[in-house]
Amino acid sequence: MTTAPATFLVGYGGKRYTLDAASALPTVANMEPETKRRVLALVLDAGAAGVDLGIGTAWRSLAQQEATFFARTTPDSAGSLVYKGQRYRLLPGMAPIAVPGNSWHELGAAVDFLNYTAPITWAEANCAAYGLRSFAHLSSGAERWHFQRQDLTTARNRVASVPPPAYVWKLPNAASNPPAYTDWPTMVTNTAKPLVQLGARGPAVTYMQEVLTACGAQPGPIDGNAGTVTITCLIAFQRYVGLEADGRCGRLTWAVLDAWVRYFLGIGAKP
Ligand SMILES: [Zn+2]
Repeated sequence: MTTAPATFLVGYGGKRYTLDAASALPTVANMEPETKRRVLALVLDAGAAGVDLGIGTAWRSLAQQEATFFARTTPDSAGSLVYKGQRYRLLPGMAPIAVPGNSWHELGAAVDFLNYTAPITWAEANCAAYGLRSFAHLSSGAERWHFQRQDLTTARNRVASVPPPAYVWKLPNAASNPPAYTDWPTMVTNTAKPLVQLGARGPAVTYMQEVLTACGAQPGPIDGNAGTVTITCLIAFQRYVGLEADGRCGRLTWAVLDAWVRYFLGIGAKP
């Protein structure tokens, strides 16, 4: 006895895909693996319950997020959205979108569900069981279809609002503790950073050590060598921000480190 493969809507073309076919589409394939597992489980279980959520957008590159942002907003000195030092306001009739670098879509850790009327109510009621939460980036209720990792949302809120433990972290003050490394902006925009784990050597390790040091942590000497002290510090950082504490600085950890550089060290966009 076989069961017909579950299918669900992906994208805005109204087309239905099997699980395998949907998983191969860039918006799904490029998701952070744990987020993908959670989102697909939620969508498939919703389908089994007769609720057709659909996946509108999951992963999208920073360039795509930026292009969409510019298409929906216009420069305005009175606007409340700030990106690269310029204020923007939402164009009339446009759906809101988060400031690039602030949406988790670039990390592959968020999803916009497609059917955002009644099915969203079901998703809001059930998403916690999948480690997801609804998150409106711009204003309350304005972006109900956007769901992201519960743990990352918690991490961002914690980083933004709660003083970290003094023995590990101090939030850097951009005014009194300016970044000392002028090549950071280049590093921030270079998304092709290699995996850093115990034993790794090279400029990416140096950069990681610099960021951790500037954030008030103690990764040991900045020597481009990922030894035990550096990796122990990295694990403390991962645990603090709510990432999996595996001592491996991969795509997601790099993204969070870069967010710290942008938000707390005064480089690039601020939310
Ligand atoms: Zn979204």
